[in-house]
Amino acid sequence: MIRSTSVPCLFAAALTLAACVSNESPPSGAASFVDEAESIGLLAMSSARIKADVVFLADDARAGREAGTPGYDAAAAFVAARMAETGLVPGADGGWLQDISFVTATQIPNESAFIIHAADGSDRALRPVEDFAVFVSAANATTDVKAPVVFAGFGVHAPEFGHDDFVGLDVEGKIVAYFTGAPDTFDSEARAHFGNSNGKRAFIAKRGAVGAITLRTASVEKRFSWERYKANSPRTSTTWAGPDGRARIDDDGVAANVVLGADGAAALFEGAALSFADVRDQADAPGGAPAGFALPVAVTIRGASDMNGFQSANVIGVIPGVDPDRKHQAVVVTAHLDHTGVDSRKRGRKDDRINNGAMDNAIGVAMMLETARRFREGPPPARTIVFIALTAEEKGLLGADYFAHYPTLGDIEIVANVNLDMPLMLHPFTDIVAFGAERSSLGGIVEAALQDANVAVSPDPIPEQGIFTRSDHYRFVEKGVPAIFLWPGFANGGEEVITGFLATHYHKPSDDLSLPIRWGDAARFADINYKIAREIADRVDKPAWNDGDFFGDLFAGD
Ligand SMILES: [Zn+2]
Repeated sequence: MIRSTSVPCLFAAALTLAACVSNESPPSGAASFVDEAESIGLLAMSSARIKADVVFLADDARAGREAGTPGYDAAAAFVAARMAETGLVPGADGGWLQDISFVTATQIPNESAFIIHAADGSDRALRPVEDFAVFVSAANATTDVKAPVVFAGFGVHAPEFGHDDFVGLDVEGKIVAYFTGAPDTFDSEARAHFGNSNGKRAFIAKRGAVGAITLRTASVEKRFSWERYKANSPRTSTTWAGPDGRARIDDDGVAANVVLGADGAAALFEGAALSFADVRDQADAPGGAPAGFALPVAVTIRGASDMNGFQSANVIGVIPGVDPDRKHQAVVVTAHLDHTGVDSRKRGRKDDRINNGAMDNAIGVAMMLETARRFREGPPPARTIVFIALTAEEKGLLGADYFAHYPTLGDIEIVANVNLDMPLMLHPFTDIVAFGAERSSLGGIVEAALQDANVAVSPDPIPEQGIFTRSDHYRFVEKGVPAIFLWPGFANGGEEVITGFLATHYHKPSDDLSLPIRWGDAARFADINYKIAREIADRVDKPAWNDGDFFGDLFAGD
């Protein structure tokens, strides 16, 4: 990791602070950094508060804050207390906690089967785990389905982009096999959207398909080998249940989703016009998009899940708006509070299996709380501001999805979302990436705030990762709400530090307080986040998608 020199004083000047703050990590004793903070002004106070919150949230006693565990509940109680002490109004029907029921389904591999029925009447059973994995729909604990198989390329239906893998294919009553992801001819966000496997299953469900088979390209295999995939068996999938107790299911009728390794896929394509190797080569070629066709086989899929459940809550606090025309519009500031808990697979250091999630996302929650405090220090906002510490992000953006479906705000309309997720504070950042800024009027606000803070705006340095679809704000985007999500940029040593973190500490026990966290930079980042949220809240114009924006057209179009 890069060792810090000192915070450039120009930042202090830009923030009109009394003093330029040392950015060395203070000693870990709580008393010493609080004392120090009192003597050196606003930014230091802010950085001390952020540090104190992260120290609590990322402590081993929170056991990695997995949704549904006592460690998460203690973290949620802490956030609620901090919201109360800051003077927020409880935002979940009179309380702080929006309780959510979750349903989990854990695979039982030795009760699963994948049998290929060839045209000549012969049957071939593949080996569970070794060749395939079955995910059963959360609607049922078991499944047993037999149907003919249709291969459908990438399984992407995007006629508005001139691409439709289903042209001429009848999938009704069939099991549909397709590659993961989407063709590389799509730009990154469209590729991330259309490549999403849940969306694909929802689409084939509408067309009457009864099962799905996911095939892996060579490029997927290179990034995440089948050997590694198998090592994570059995897998657990999680979804939320609505107030009526029913699990959320988008792919009703698609009884099972099977993921096939290369050997199993080769067996599935035996006797077909093209072999699995043929279609996989087509899928991996630049611009490649193999055309679909019916396979000369039927398949029996059996699967079973161990069904369980847990409760976990979003923590919601509100600052009511005061402008008569705008107080019924809300800016929602979010940060996920959950993380991945204790590593049961012993991948971490032998002596430490707790995924503390200091960066992911204790620091984002701490910055959100600091943003709330800054709002309370200033005049009441024109629009209503809602702060939510979200649960179950790590299980599929589920707390955000639940809130987006069941908002607790009465007749208040959500007009923008500002999300904080894993803002890595490990280098003296001089630029910021604002995911989503170029899509809506929020972009202009971000630019002005960053100019004030003397920080540059940089384009997404890793567009191939489709980051915009990978955190909680995306659940608001899917409801048509413009959103932004800030990360420190790659300038001034950021690239090495950020890519190094992702390779070494991301989702591992070492994402903890032993990292050289730069609390002064965290305070600067929180300040920028506050100024952006403040401007969105007070600006006369309601946030709007830019004309022709992909996500605006997709989710907010009329
Ligand atoms: Zn994470």
